[in-house]
Amino acid sequence: MTPDISEELRLPVACPSCGSHLYRVSKVHNPDDKVFCASCKRFLCLYHEAQAMLEKGPSDELEAMIEEVVNRNHH
Ligand SMILES: [Zn+2]
Repeated sequence: MTPDISEELRLPVACPSCGSHLYRVSKVHNPDDKVFCASCKRFLCLYHEAQAMLEKGPSDELEAMIEEVVNRNHH
């Protein structure tokens, strides 16, 4: 059994799958840690990307960035 080492993270972007703004990320906070949707477990982006979102807040630039991330994940 693996211990629960993740914590909740609220981001300005909605999950592309279910629209939730609540995500889960490892408490370790490595820049390369994966950020998952808390509801549907969809992979959104890496932790350092989530940090950038939180610093910038919602914007067109951010939307474009998310689209890029989401498209990348489809490959
Ligand atoms: Zn979701």
